[in-house]
Amino acid sequence: MLQISDTIVAISTPPGRGGIGIVRLSGPESLSLTRKLLQKPDFQPEPNRVSLHRLYDPQTGEELDRALITYFRAPRSFTGEDVVELSCHGSPILLLQIVDILLQLGARAADPGEFTLRALANGRLNLSQAEAIRDLIDAQTTAAARQAARQLSGELSTRLQPFKDSLLEIIVPLESSLEFVEDDLPDLAIEGISARLSDLIGEIEDLAATFRTGRLLKEGLRVTLIGRPNVGKSSIFNALLKQDRAIVTELPGTTRDSLSEMLNLDGIPVLLTDTAGMREATDRIERIGIERTKRAIADADLLIVVIDGSAPLTEEDREVLSQARENRHLIAVNKSDLEGFSLERVRESGIEIDAELIAVSARTGDGLEALRDEILRSFAGSEDSSGGFLITNARHYDLLRRASESLRSAQDLIKQRASEELVLVGLYDALRYLGEITGETTPEDILDQIFSTFCIGK
Ligand code: GDP
Ligand code: ZN
Repeated sequence: MLQISDTIVAISTPPGRGGIGIVRLSGPESLSLTRKLLQKPDFQPEPNRVSLHRLYDPQTGEELDRALITYFRAPRSFTGEDVVELSCHGSPILLLQIVDILLQLGARAADPGEFTLRALANGRLNLSQAEAIRDLIDAQTTAAARQAARQLSGELSTRLQPFKDSLLEIIVPLESSLEFVEDDLPDLAIEGISARLSDLIGEIEDLAATFRTGRLLKEGLRVTLIGRPNVGKSSIFNALLKQDRAIVTELPGTTRDSLSEMLNLDGIPVLLTDTAGMREATDRIERIGIERTKRAIADADLLIVVIDGSAPLTEEDREVLSQARENRHLIAVNKSDLEGFSLERVRESGIEIDAELIAVSARTGDGLEALRDEILRSFAGSEDSSGGFLITNARHYDLLRRASESLRSAQDLIKQRASEELVLVGLYDALRYLGEITGETTPEDILDQIFSTFCIGK
């Protein structure tokens, strides 16, 4: 797969019209193809310098556009190959025409993520950095973009390197004891190795634990509104959306329906779901759709139980509250604008209230600010002490987990005085898992899978 000889082309700016649209070429023929497009056989641009040129259709001689041309000479380019970027006017028709001409001249249409794949193959970046490019492009909020940028700068590899180093420091003496010592390792050595393994396992698991927050940053904190019909769930849903709807192009991994929308609360993505809307659509009189509500409750990171504060609590309210108790939740007491509203009545209703009570009015907007703050506080509650660096990628998390599991089983074997060979198996497994994160030991089918999630032109 990583055998590269041809020259690829793609439009690298998003679909649609714009001031500028960029066509990117990468590969050995990038410059010679550009010469044909410019009708300048001697065109020899200075690398990394922009210059303005006319582009022509080589068949008809017709002028297509004027474009700013930048040449990056191998290996000092994004992909590590010769790269030419043609910054044209952002007309989709024009850009497609230019790509078509380049294809006719012998370029090949780039696969999704192929520029980044070439960068990886040529050692311009490692796998976790390549993934960071995709995450940066897909980021829904500034906080998610910041994490992707840190990963792109190589921070994850920097954090993994000491793990690999300590692992090697354990492996090397074990290997040499295999070669030179007839007897078992002395007790002292075993204790030393075991202690070092414990430290290493602790560090790997600490890093893995940041995924709890990292996942939220990437996929959004899943916040679900529950409550009996007519308490005002949909009104609160809409009021929050009106204020904080995220600018979303597409949500990776989430189905888009009107019941779930992405909010952007101070840079934190929140996937807000209005549950009972589904059931209202089907049967208003039906009692709480227990199964569906249970699902929604189980899937949520935070529940907002909505109660109508202008009326006495009903049996249905109590039922919803008792279901919510299983999960992290807040209680929004709605309709604070109404005459009969009372927070006290809820407090004194005899039900066990173990969460924050927030008086809100979806109608006037009162209390929504406090509700936002509570949602954010529950996010902050899941933050940890990793110097702010977070694992945001499920693949990385999974590999860290596997590495620590392998080390744990190696440690058990050591304690049982198993042979060094057996212990080493676990240690090498862990080393391989760590290497898969940055790509040194990643199987090819996994690479294919990762790059298939990129967009064309990246
Ligand atoms: P849901 O069934 O829980 O989604 O409740 P809705 O959002 O559909 O609201 C039910 C009814 O309560 C509608 O007539 C809303 O206009 C009304 N409502 C919702 N929130 C408020 C509020 O804060 N104050 C008042 N006065 N009425 C509200
Ligand atoms: Zn509703």
